[in-house]
Amino acid sequence: MRLVLATSNRGKVREIKAMCRDFEVVPYSELMDEFEIIEDADTFKGNALIKARAVYVALEDDEAIVLADDSGISVDVLDGAPGIYSARYAGKDVTDKDNLYALVEALKAEGVHESEAHYTAAIAIISKEGEQTVHGWMYGKVIPMTRGEKGFGYDPMFIPEGFEQTLGELDADVKSALSHRSKALSLANLLVANIKKQRGHR
Ligand code: IMP
Repeated sequence: MRLVLATSNRGKVREIKAMCRDFEVVPYSELMDEFEIIEDADTFKGNALIKARAVYVALEDDEAIVLADDSGISVDVLDGAPGIYSARYAGKDVTDKDNLYALVEALKAEGVHESEAHYTAAIAIISKEGEQTVHGWMYGKVIPMTRGEKGFGYDPMFIPEGFEQTLGELDADVKSALSHRSKALSLANLLVANIKKQRGHR
């Protein structure tokens, strides 16, 4: 069964493919030209639904199952910023690295050597069977520097609870055992398996 991802973020695609091995996972950009999706909801869930709906409609395929992930990091000392604005913290049309360094600078400006923080992932699944959403979280802290090159996005400054190293230093399998995305995806996998079952019975 094919799952179309409403993202072309390489870090996300890599992690989602690794965690959804029972399904064929295809980023929508392999099926059509990428197009701009305005994510103007005020929650991760709302933005995940916007992305999934946009791709589901564009595919014009009644059998399609679309999965969208909207995620980000919330830093306590910054009152939860960047939160839903994680992808554009350094401005419009910026890279993950620009956002990472902007968050390092924001922490430095607060004069703290660390702050509690957490990642959130909202996943929306849309198919002809309907719309569903699930969430996952990962708690830890951020530091005003980057360490390591693994993971993506804000990982080089994030230290998960119970560890001393950043996600930039820890192996991918450590992240996948703990992450907001893997927790949400384990629920999403159940939803997709259920759709598969329902279709098998028709
Ligand atoms: P989205 O693609 O609109 O959901 O934006 C997600 C933003 O949060 C991007 O800037 C990502 O780099 C960041 N982000 C989401 N999940 C992770 C993660 O697992 N590690 C590091 N950064 C992440």
